[in-house]
Amino acid sequence: MRNEQATQLLFDLSVPGRCGAEYPESDCPEFSSTACIPAEFLSDTPLPLPEVNEPDVIRHFTNLSTLNMSVDTHYYPLGSCTMKYNPKRHERLAAVPGLVDLHPWQAEESLQGMLQIQYEMQQMLGEIAGLPAVSLQPAAGAQGELAALLVASAYFQDKGEHRSKVIFPNSAHGTNPASAALAGFDCIQLGAGKNGFVDLDELKEHLDDQTAVFMITNPNTLGLFEPEIDEISKMLHDVGGLVYIDGANMNAILGIARPGDFGGDMMHYNVHKTFTGPHGAGGPGSGPIAVRDFLADYLPGPVVAHDEESGQYKLQTPPKSIGRVRSFFGNVGILLRGYFYLRTLGGDGLKELSEHAVLNANYLKEKLKHVLPVPNGERCMHEFVASAQHLQKELGVSAMDIAKRLLDYGFHAPTVYFPLVVPEAIMVEPTETESKATLDAFVETIEKIIAEDPELLHTAPHSTPVSRPDDVKAARNPILCWSPVCDV
Ligand SMILES: *Cc1c(COP(=O)(O)O)cnc(C)c1O
Repeated sequence: MRNEQATQLLFDLSVPGRCGAEYPESDCPEFSSTACIPAEFLSDTPLPLPEVNEPDVIRHFTNLSTLNMSVDTHYYPLGSCTMKYNPKRHERLAAVPGLVDLHPWQAEESLQGMLQIQYEMQQMLGEIAGLPAVSLQPAAGAQGELAALLVASAYFQDKGEHRSKVIFPNSAHGTNPASAALAGFDCIQLGAGKNGFVDLDELKEHLDDQTAVFMITNPNTLGLFEPEIDEISKMLHDVGGLVYIDGANMNAILGIARPGDFGGDMMHYNVHKTFTGPHGAGGPGSGPIAVRDFLADYLPGPVVAHDEESGQYKLQTPPKSIGRVRSFFGNVGILLRGYFYLRTLGGDGLKELSEHAVLNANYLKEKLKHVLPVPNGERCMHEFVASAQHLQKELGVSAMDIAKRLLDYGFHAPTVYFPLVVPEAIMVEPTETESKATLDAFVETIEKIIAEDPELLHTAPHSTPVSRPDDVKAARNPILCWSPVCDV
C-alpha cells in the first residue's frame, strides 16, 4: 500500500517540450558542451529524460526528502545504532573549502593539514581505547571487525600458530560471526548465560590452543556491562588468544572505562554512531580499529606517522600490514565530523556525554517498565531491552505492532527482535541528545498504544507513505525500477 506522493516519478510528471531552465549557447568554443568529448562518444539519439519545469523538480525532491524519518525530524531511539543528533557546526567545518577541495592524489607536502587531523584522530582514538595503534581505514564497523580479525590471523601466522576458532556470545551483533567466517575462522557461539552475561564455565570449555579470538560487545547488546570482563580476558590470554571488543556501544563508557584497560587487545569504533556521522540505511560509515602495540605492524595501511624532527606528517604502511582495506585515507567525510566532535567535547565533555546517555537510558527504562518489562538488569548502561512477550500472550500484540504504530505518532521505532535472547525484544537507546520532555512523550505514546485496539495495531502504520510491506519479501525480492509496472 502506498500513497500518490510516494509513487509519482519525475517521468510521470514529464510533458514533451517542457523545460526547466534555458541557457544561451556558450560563445566560447572550447567551453561548448561537446568540445572536449571525442566524436566517437557523441550520439544524436535524444536521451529519454523526463521533461519537467523547475518547480516540479524542486517539489518532487523536497517531498521525497521528507517521506522518511531522520534524526533531524524525529526522535529515533534505535537500539545499538546510537542515532544521536549530529551537530550542524561539524557539518559546516567538514565542508570548509580547505578540506573538501583536497585531492587524495596531491603530494603529501600539500596535504599536511589533513594528515595532521588524521594523525590527531589516531592519537585520540588510541587514548580513548587504551589501545595505542590505530588505523582509520575501515569504512564501517563491520569492515573494522574483518580488518582486525585479519590482523589477528596475520599475527598468529607470523608466530607460527594455527588457530581456527573465533568465539562470541549469542547476543553478538550478526556482523561478528559474518566477519569471523569471512576472515576464514570457524565460528563458535556460546549459549545464553545468566542475566545475559557470558557463562565462564561454558567459555572455558571452548578455550584451547586453537582459540584465536573472543569477540565481545561491552557494554553488551542488552545494555549491560560484563561484570567478569577482566576474568574473561585473563582466560583468553592464558591460552594465547586475543580479546576483540566490538566498540559499537562505546557511547556508554567514553572517558570512564577503556577496552585496553579491561583486557581488550583489539577493537573497532563506529565513528558514525558514537562520534556523530549522520548515518542510516547502511551508510556512510567509518570503523577505525585500535590495537595493542604488538599488533601495530599488521594494521591495514597506510597510517599517518609524524616525524618529530621535520615536523612533517607522512603516510606509512606498517611493515607486516595486511594491506589496504579502503581506498585513500578511509571515509574522510565521516572521520572529519568525528574529529571536530572530539575536539569540541574534549576529555571531560566525552565523559559527561556518556553519563547523560546512561542517565537517559535508566530514566526511560524506569518510566517504561510498568508497561514493557525489562527482563535483564536493574540498571542499564546506554540502552535496555524491554519485552512485549506478555502483550503478545494476553492481547496478541507483538513488538512489531508497537514498533509500527509508533511511526503513526511521529517516533522512529526502536530496534525489535534483537538481541534474540529476549523474546519480543524492544531495544531502546535514547542517547544523550534527547530532552526529558521527549523521553516523557515517548513513554506516554507507548502507554497510549498499548491501550489501543489490537486490530488497529496489527495494520499500523496508517499515516506513512508505505504502510506495512512484507519484510521478508522486501528484503529478498526488491523491485528496484521506475517503470509503472512495478508494484509493492
Ligand atoms: C552497528 C553495529 C555493528 C556494525 O557496524 P556497522 O558500522 O553498521 O558496520 C557491529 N556491532 C554492533 C554491536 C553494532 O551495533
